[in-house]
Amino acid sequence: MIIVMDSEATPSEIDNVIAEAESNGWQTHLSGSSGNVVIGLQGHGQPLDLFKMGQMPGVRETMSITQKFKLASRAFSPEDTVFNVRDVPVGGKKIIVIAGPCSVESREQILETAHAVKEAGATMLRGGAYKPRTSPYSFQGLGEAGLKLLAEAREATGLPIVTEVMSPTKVALVAVYADVLQIGARNMQNYDLLNAVGLAQKPVLLKRGMSATLEDLLMAAEYVLRHGNTQVMLCERGVRTFDNKYARNTFDINAFPLLKELSHLPVIADPSHGIGVRRHVQPIALSSVAAGADGLIIEAHPDPEKAVSDGPQSLTLPQFATLMGKVRTMATAVGRES
Ligand code: PEP
Ligand code: MN
Repeated sequence: MIIVMDSEATPSEIDNVIAEAESNGWQTHLSGSSGNVVIGLQGHGQPLDLFKMGQMPGVRETMSITQKFKLASRAFSPEDTVFNVRDVPVGGKKIIVIAGPCSVESREQILETAHAVKEAGATMLRGGAYKPRTSPYSFQGLGEAGLKLLAEAREATGLPIVTEVMSPTKVALVAVYADVLQIGARNMQNYDLLNAVGLAQKPVLLKRGMSATLEDLLMAAEYVLRHGNTQVMLCERGVRTFDNKYARNTFDINAFPLLKELSHLPVIADPSHGIGVRRHVQPIALSSVAAGADGLIIEAHPDPEKAVSDGPQSLTLPQFATLMGKVRTMATAVGRES
């Protein structure tokens, strides 16, 4: 259930409503849009008399949220959530572009990539230091040394850093270096990890699990949000279907209009993992922007043939610059900025 307060509601009227809900065993969460405070009720309290709550001074309306996800829902926050990662606004009119290699491999590789993607107009730098690899014999990432290289690349370019954290015990360490904590597809339902990044109060890029429904994704976001961390980006990165012969995954373009309708959170497209084939990344990126994505995350590498992970889907740096030009055109065509 949510309680929407009047824009003129006084702090004591808001406190009274919170006290009434909490005395009935509910947990309360506050959000605000257009000057209206919205109080979300969670948990297993006593049933409340909606009519009586609606009559309390300062209350504009009460609504029951029928979806399982509450804090992530549009009803809870009718306006789009916009937050800043350093000085980059996420979820606003401007399409954000996060670019960089799948894995941080060396100082030269990450610095060259960072400078090139910045030059081309990217707004954040990605790179994995802890890699969730299908095979334990594959490159597992440089660990903290990789995080330090990312921090150096941020120093050199000003680009905020997006990097994956795989374990709750590593959240504190990764949070020292990262501006955005990425939760990988394989960890979307690692609830201990979701709680840990919720508590870390850092922006989170939450990737859709490879067999997760949109509701599963929104429920995973709910784990982060319930700790008062509202800085969550949802990320469509393709799902597993029967057809994996020509593409790595099946990219779900439906996710953009649906998630934007169901939730107030920013939605990011990952066409690199979505299709997994370098020459097809561009059309999927552009169609994501057309479908309502708030941003893109793109793998780019100075020499994709030599990449230690995801080379076949990584763009060369000139290809990334070309893509950026087309993203600008598409953003304008759909009334966004880039
Ligand atoms: C990645 O971003 O390199 C990655 C491992 O992504 P995903 O979790 O979507 O597979
Ligand atoms: Mn990758």
